[in-house]
Amino acid sequence: MANTHPWVLGLTGGIGSGKSSASKFFAELGIEVIDADLVARQVVEPGSPALNAIVKRHGESILDTNGALDRSKLREIVFSDNSEKLWLNNLLHPLIRTEMLDQLARAQSPYVILEAPLLFENGLEKYCQRTLLIDVQLELQLTRTCERDKLTLDAARAIVAAQMSRSNKVKKADDIISNSGTLAALKSKVQGYHYSYLKRVKLHSCADKQQ
Ligand code: ADP
Repeated sequence: MANTHPWVLGLTGGIGSGKSSASKFFAELGIEVIDADLVARQVVEPGSPALNAIVKRHGESILDTNGALDRSKLREIVFSDNSEKLWLNNLLHPLIRTEMLDQLARAQSPYVILEAPLLFENGLEKYCQRTLLIDVQLELQLTRTCERDKLTLDAARAIVAAQMSRSNKVKKADDIISNSGTLAALKSKVQGYHYSYLKRVKLHSCADKQQ
């Protein structure tokens, strides 16, 4: 049965901060994770009404050889044309929001995680009872990102620069995990927060029942 009032934890952090690693540890504890980036890709899957609308507007050349959306081509178009960017956002944002809220409501775990690198940038914290930031110093963030994505240092720096500053995220987050240690240390911090969230969820559901 769908949980129409799920207790949602927003999980965020800059690129390479360790969000996916933290999510994996939460998932091992039985917590379902909805990935906002994945939802954004799902709504433009081949055959979807949104992809059909994009093809109608930009022609078949917006598709790759497999019939999937050529994201880099679309990015080029919206990068140089603000009205196209607006059109695309008006099309996709409501669809992404509906799909995301549906997936959150379908979750069966005691609470559910919404993982989004741009949680604060896109105002998604309004769907969350609490937010958790995975935080790491810039140097480590760059090294880990370069290693994982085989990027140059400059390319990694450019991506970090386009995201909200670390200090702003720190101000906005309810909880912060510093991921400057080992993966084992991250895992144990995740476990600690997991038990604190279970307690909060219990209190939340007691309060709901009393209403
Ligand atoms: P994000 O999802 O925030 O982009 P990831 O969880 O993918 O970040 O982490 C980025 C890279 O750094 C991955 O290759 C991951 O295995 C590695 N990593 C994350 N946390 C640690 C850690 N504490 N120690 C060593 N490597 C880490």
